[in-house]
Amino acid sequence: MNTPVLYIVIPCYNEQEVLPVTSGMFLEKINSLIAKGRVAPESRVVFVNDGSKDNTWNIIQELANSDEHFEGVCLSRNRGHQNALLGGLMTVKDRCDITISIDCDGQDDINAMDAMVDAYWDGCEVVYGVRSKRDTDTFFKRFTAEGFYKLMNWMGAQVVFNHADYRLMSSRVLNEFANFKEVNIFLRGMVPLVGFKSTSVYYERAERIAGESHYPLKKMLALAFDGITSLSVKPIRLITGFGALISVISFVGVIWAVVEAILGSTVAGWASTTSIVCFMGGIQLLCLGVIGEYIGKIYLETKQRPRYIIEKCTWNRENSQK
Ligand code: UDP
Ligand code: MG
Repeated sequence: MNTPVLYIVIPCYNEQEVLPVTSGMFLEKINSLIAKGRVAPESRVVFVNDGSKDNTWNIIQELANSDEHFEGVCLSRNRGHQNALLGGLMTVKDRCDITISIDCDGQDDINAMDAMVDAYWDGCEVVYGVRSKRDTDTFFKRFTAEGFYKLMNWMGAQVVFNHADYRLMSSRVLNEFANFKEVNIFLRGMVPLVGFKSTSVYYERAERIAGESHYPLKKMLALAFDGITSLSVKPIRLITGFGALISVISFVGVIWAVVEAILGSTVAGWASTTSIVCFMGGIQLLCLGVIGEYIGKIYLETKQRPRYIIEKCTWNRENSQK
């Protein structure tokens, strides 16, 4: 096997405090992998600027000018972590043999990259970085994350437990992945669908080097809900089952009410009637909401809008600056 060209792809959104620190770590890692002959000298570290409002793109350009191993891709506006990552991967897939995606905040242990590249040499096309411990996360984050993985798998979406978006993918896998045309993307749930030989490497997740997480509770819940509804139709089936159950219970209730009326033992019954009406109203609204979520997704998918737009790259490409 030829020595593979590795591109490390790193989405960045408002990371001016973090980049100057972590960029050095990424450079060291790629240089050491090159020195050991595990990856080719043409390997690169590519930062994807996801429409940052701070100095991030300027820093990326300075890095690209300072060392040939740094490159940058700039999206035309903020499109969110998943789209930025996909944009980066699709832009570099024809320039390399393997990619490793990682966040730029230093939370994922870059030393796991050695084991990822080893696994590629052993024939794996996808290597998932899996957190072995979540000590640095709050109890709440651990609890919600665990619930989320369990729920996802129960809903029928294959998600690797404790794996986020730190993973190696070969360009062959990326070429197949390019055929996944959906607009709502949840990469960690979609990559396992591509297939090919895969494995996991384990690492400990650290604290963010600087700056703040872009995933507060509200966004985390939105991501979880998005992940479930883009990968599974089980919620709709559950609603159907639940609706059927409620209907049976209501049917029994109606018969009971009729019998009571015939026997002439009718009571005012105001409280029970009101509570049933309220309960049913609530359930119906909930069900409508879930169905509406799917209809909204269908609406967005039918438009087939681009998931990201590349404005410029630091290498020779149309509208490129470097
Ligand atoms: N990120 C991005 N676009 C966004 C939000 C985040 O490209 O709109 C990047 C961010 O710069 C980081 C990665 O996605 O490299 C993960 O974000 P973060 O560390 O805030 O998430 P957490 O680790 O807390 O889940
Ligand atoms: Mg982070």
